[in-house]
Formats: sequence, structure tokens, C-alpha cells
Amino acid sequence: KAKAHGGGRCAFFDVDLRKRVQRHMVLEQDLRHAVRREQLWVAFQPVVDLRTESTVAVEGLLRWWHPLHGAVSPGEFIPLAEESDLINPIGAHMLREATSRVAAARERHDLDLHLNANLSPRQLEDPRLQDHVQQALAESGLPSHALCLEITENAIMQDPEAATRVLTALRELGIGLAIDDFGTGYSSLAQLRRLPLDIVKIDRTFITDLGSSDELEVIVAGIVAMAHAIGLGVVAEGIETAAQLAIIRDLGCDQGQGYYLGKPAPMDWLFPPTAGRR
Ligand code: C2E
Ligand code: MG
Ligand code: MG
Ligand code: MG
Repeated sequence: KAKAHGGGRCAFFDVDLRKRVQRHMVLEQDLRHAVRREQLWVAFQPVVDLRTESTVAVEGLLRWWHPLHGAVSPGEFIPLAEESDLINPIGAHMLREATSRVAAARERHDLDLHLNANLSPRQLEDPRLQDHVQQALAESGLPSHALCLEITENAIMQDPEAATRVLTALRELGIGLAIDDFGTGYSSLAQLRRLPLDIVKIDRTFITDLGSSDELEVIVAGIVAMAHAIGLGVVAEGIETAAQLAIIRDLGCDQGQGYYLGKPAPMDWLFPPTAGRR
């Protein structure tokens, strides 16, 4: 049809767009049942202490196994959940699931393993958030100091005063707070200084090109120095090579995360239920 108006390029675009819109609608509809049908599960990625090289925490990352489409990435379905108000029930489910898995691994392996969990901006606005967090901790038995919630800069900068109130209330529960994907948003450490934070996670885009750019090393060194100066720990995301790991360690980052150190995996692969302490 579009061809009649000239140009096959247009027709391709049409088909492509229609397919994407259809997929969007189907997935959004199916996501409504995903929790109940047990299609959502949590993968865990190791967070490694760069001095001792031991796994000190795991980041919980949501996964959706769709019966027809297979694995759908959180980059695709989290935005759908945010648009459709599903993010709050899904987020609460994720917290229950992840805290109970980590609590079980701590128990079985006698480890002081911590959990990092992502919060979307919409969850920060939910008045029930504190209850959801408290319930997850109480039901799982995970001590509050072993939980750290990750928030992006932009979620805070939309309404810094409201965010500060929520973060302060969360911190009163005894949990830790991290800024996720730092460097991709529009905030500065000077602004973040006022917030009750514990950790800064430097975005993967800064780490990927390390080694090919001296400039980038200076930037990352600066972020590390400033974060330490205001009392924050620093985690580097997206370490994919031994060379990146070496640079990141030299630059003074405290912890690291990335495919080179460990990919997201089911908890039982990381900490097998039958194996002993590791
Ligand atoms: P994020 O919180 O920044 O999580 C890190 C992402 O980087 C994960 O992607 C992880 O698999 C990926 N990653 C880790 N190491 C490497 C590496 O070495 N190289 C590369 N290329 N990638 C690496 P994933 O699992 O696809 O998650 C994407 C995003 O979806 C997360 O980014 C987070 O913003 C969001 N997300 C995931 N789970 C949840 C959740 O339970 N709640 C909310 N609100 N958002 C979530
Ligand atoms: Mg994260
Ligand atoms: Mg991140
Ligand atoms: Mg990221």
C-alpha cells in the first residue's frame, strides 16, 4: 500500500512499526498475568570486592520468560510495567522473591551476602513502598543492612525534595541506598551530596572504553575521588575484560560488577544448594 505512494523503504517502515506496536500491546497485556503465572524470575549478578576478589553482594535483575516470545529483556518490559501501573505489584513481587533467595543463600552458606535491588521512579512515588520493603525483610528474615536499593539519578532529580523524603524514610529502616548508572543523567555529586546515599555505581558506558582513552581514566578517577570525599563507596558496572578490571582497581573503585566477574544467573548456579561454603 505504501509502495503506491512511492518507495519500498516506507513500506518496510510501516510493517516494522506495526509489528512493534503489536508486540508492545501483546506484551503489555500478557504482563498483567506474568506474576500470577510465575513467568517472572530473578537472576543475580555478583558484585565483587576488588581488594579481596570475593562476592560481597548480588544484584537482583528481573527476567521474564514469555510462553510464546521466550526471554523478554527488562529493558523492554520494565518500561511497559511503568506505563501500565504494573511496576508496583511487580516491584513488590521482585523484592519478596529476591530477599528470600538471598536470605536462604546466607543461611545455607553462612555468608554475609548483600542484595542490591533496582527501584523504578514510579516505585519511589508509591506510598506503599516502605511497607513493601519492610514486609519483604520481615518475611524473608534478611537483615536490613544486607539490602541496598538502587535508584537512578533522574528518578531523584524529577522532584528532589519528594525523593529526599522517601529516601530518608527508607534509610531509617536500616537499608543502604545506591545511585545507579551514575554519569548518564544530569545530576552532579555536588547535588547528590545532600541525599542520604551510601554507594555510587558508575555507568557501564564509562567502563567500556577504558584503556582506549586517557581522558576517560581521568574522569573516572575524578568520580571516585569525589565520591570518596563525600563518604560514598564506588561500584564500577560493566567490567568485561581483565584489562578493564586492572584499570578500575588502580583507579580506586571499591567494588566491581560485569560479565568478566560474573553474568546474571539463577541463585542456585551462583550458590549451589548442595555445595558448602565458598
Ligand atoms: P541496571 O540496574 O544498570 O543493571 C545492569 C545491567 O547491565 C543488567 O542488564 C546487566 O545484565 C547488565 N550488565 C552487567 N554486566 C555487564 C557487562 O559486563 N556488559 C554488559 N554489556 N552488560 C552488563 P539487564 O539485566 O538487562 O537489566 C537492564 C536494566 O533493567 C537494569 O539496569 C535496570 O535498570 C532494569 N531492571 C532490571 N531488573 C529490574 C527490577 O527488578 N526493577 C526495576 N525497576 N528495574 C530493573
Ligand atoms: Mg541496577
Ligand atoms: Mg546500573
Ligand atoms: Mg545500567
